Amino acid sequence: MSTMLHVKDLRAYYGQVQALHGLEFDLKEGSLTTLLGANGAGKTTTLRAICNMVRSTGSIEFEGKKLDNKSTESIVRLGIAHVPQGRGTFATLTVDENLELGAISRKDIKAIKSDIDRMYDYFPRLKERHTQQAGTLSGGEQQMLAVARALMLRPRLMLLDEPSFGLAPLIVRDLFKILGQINREDKVSILVVEQNAQLALELADKAYVIETGRIVMSGTADEVANNEDVRKSYLGY
Ligand code: ATP
Repeated sequence: MSTMLHVKDLRAYYGQVQALHGLEFDLKEGSLTTLLGANGAGKTTTLRAICNMVRSTGSIEFEGKKLDNKSTESIVRLGIAHVPQGRGTFATLTVDENLELGAISRKDIKAIKSDIDRMYDYFPRLKERHTQQAGTLSGGEQQMLAVARALMLRPRLMLLDEPSFGLAPLIVRDLFKILGQINREDKVSILVVEQNAQLALELADKAYVIETGRIVMSGTADEVANNEDVRKSYLGY
């Protein structure tokens, strides 16, 4: 597998506050990689830096192209979709309209229609509610809609910020199962940041642990899951 995303010496700043301190990691094409870490470790900031939504220095390369200094919009056009924490669906638009908006930069009407059908295969709950306003959906359904909307861009890489946040355990299991399917069947590479280390490690093939803006550990998901420090600090046993 070739390297799809290469992050080197990444530093990010909110005014005077430095949130990332020389972060380095790689993501292989086709992989499902997780970035684990406690509250405030810098996970959200890492995704924001990839999308150029926070001031940063260092180098980020996606499929051999430098992303530094590119606008968020052109980064999206290169094939990176970002599902931020808090979901970000349009509350007053219907499920259908949210999905259509996700494809706004595309012109291939037929393929858009079949992609919407594909999203409804993945997420039958959304199909049942396709004429409902997004704001009336449950938290889990809104998270599913946010993922589906991002996929309507036909991204090569999807960045997911805490998809499990605020969801009931069974819903999270369902959602993570579908993420695994999207990764394997639709060949979308995924970078997921999570506080729920156990779930993320079950899902991912590769894992990084971030502490105070630095990567402190990396390996296959199995290696990281079996590491004693990780078990004590993040898995609670
Ligand atoms: P969480 O799970 O709580 O979102 P995180 O690992 O995603 O945690 P970040 O949100 O990336 O962490 O935050 C990293 C650091 O940057 C923290 O110390 C945080 O206080 C700081 N930070 C984040 N956003 C801002 C902001 N808008 N202004 C100032 N400091 C910020």
